[in-house]
Amino acid sequence: MPRINTIRMTPTIVETDLQRIQSVLKKQREFFSTGHTLELAFRKERLQELQRAIGQHEQELMDAMYTDFHKPEMEAYSTEVGFVELELKLVLKNLRKWSEPKRVKESLINFPSRSYVHSDPYGVALIIGPWNYPFQLLLNPLIGAMAAGNCAIVKPSELTPTTSAVVAKMIRQHFDDSYIATVEGGVQTTQHLLQQRFDYIFFTGSTQVGKIVMKAAAEHLTPVTLELGGKSPAIVAEDADLGLAARRIAWGKFLNAGQTCIAPDYLLVQESVKEELLQLISQYISDFYSEDPRQSPDFARIVNDRHFNRLSSFLRDGMVRTGGITDAASRYIAPTLLDKVTWQHPIMQEEIFGPILPVLTFQQLDEAINQVRGREKPLALYFFSNDDRKKAQVLKYTSFGGGCINDTVSHIINPHLPFGGVGQSGMGSYHGQSSFELFSQQKSVLHRGTWLDLPLRYPPYGNRLPMLRKLFKWL
Ligand code: NAD
Repeated sequence: MPRINTIRMTPTIVETDLQRIQSVLKKQREFFSTGHTLELAFRKERLQELQRAIGQHEQELMDAMYTDFHKPEMEAYSTEVGFVELELKLVLKNLRKWSEPKRVKESLINFPSRSYVHSDPYGVALIIGPWNYPFQLLLNPLIGAMAAGNCAIVKPSELTPTTSAVVAKMIRQHFDDSYIATVEGGVQTTQHLLQQRFDYIFFTGSTQVGKIVMKAAAEHLTPVTLELGGKSPAIVAEDADLGLAARRIAWGKFLNAGQTCIAPDYLLVQESVKEELLQLISQYISDFYSEDPRQSPDFARIVNDRHFNRLSSFLRDGMVRTGGITDAASRYIAPTLLDKVTWQHPIMQEEIFGPILPVLTFQQLDEAINQVRGREKPLALYFFSNDDRKKAQVLKYTSFGGGCINDTVSHIINPHLPFGGVGQSGMGSYHGQSSFELFSQQKSVLHRGTWLDLPLRYPPYGNRLPMLRKLFKWL
């Protein structure tokens, strides 16, 4: 198969590159129309090729993420490369079963008949990724798109340029661009992509850019999935196992230096156990990252100066209990606990996306629930308690994309749980079978028997209405 170079956009050659985007899209449309991607054997073989590609580039990918923002190797494997490999294994194992048309129940009115739902690919998908998990959040949707039989253009984030380049190289070496292509570049490139007509758009990023994507998609009536962000609370009730809660919150918050869409954004703790919990979290911070986390090989850095400055300014909100140290040269912000914070502080007005955990308190659980309900629906919610009634109360009265009871972040690891947001935190969900379904149009087909053709529905209707009424009542 012919290969073309990855498209790199620069403002001076926009016109040429725009033409190249259009040419790749045209090639993908032509390739899709050949019907090759509809074949199960083709899809499996290409997914296996992706498996080989990732295997070959594993170290290079992890090194690239370290270069981009000091992502520790253990995290680069467990949350990026290994995570994607697990998804691929699951998809390859189940793809035949998922691809089969699903028989559904019949309506007696159509007797005799058989009804099926077929999973059809949409065509050419556009997948736009963020920088914080620059490999996983681009590749996992791509696996879903390929599994369902789509062609795809992937657009990695420009804020992690080293990883972007390795992904582009990997895809270029293993796939023809008439099937899968990478387009590298920044905002302008994304805007050029969004001007084109795609059959599906899968976007992961901020709520603000999600709105831009959805507006552009509306122009062509292209269906979209938006995986966005928000302020995800970790709520701790006084009956919780505080040691475990502290350890699991500290892990989920400071993983990737807090630059995780489903990291606990803020802590809502019952007043009676606040002091004990904060001491325990502080203790775990030093257990995990030593007294000086700057020296720890396991703590990432802030992705760029803009985010470093934004996060540093939050340290003026409230009172630093632990951490609070910064180093602009290395874009280091220590794992920080921030006490005495109110909803009026700037840190509570936007998604934090960094290693600063503000602490708010409540007296009764109702108050905590109302604080969450009074704001935009979060992408994740974590509740720590050993009381089943309290767990049921929180689950019933709060709306959020997904979450955990007595843990943080881990729901993303179960591929059988659809992953996505709600309201301002997104729409649509994926992972495992949900990804396959997301990138498939559910085509409903009725096969009507030919050996019987009752005259009831055909004009002239005469006086058949009473009989029809009786039939409908009986059904
Ligand atoms: P972002 O929205 O700034 O960028 C995402 C992508 O959009 C990038 O590829 C970028 O090039 C493009 N983009 C940026 N501005 C644009 C514009 N004006 N027009 C068109 N395209 C534009 O997000 P980010 O900073 O890369 O990632 C952080 C955000 O992503 C956070 O809000 C986080 O919560 C969210 N996120 C969500 C998930 C999830 O699964 N729900 C996962 C990771 C990150």
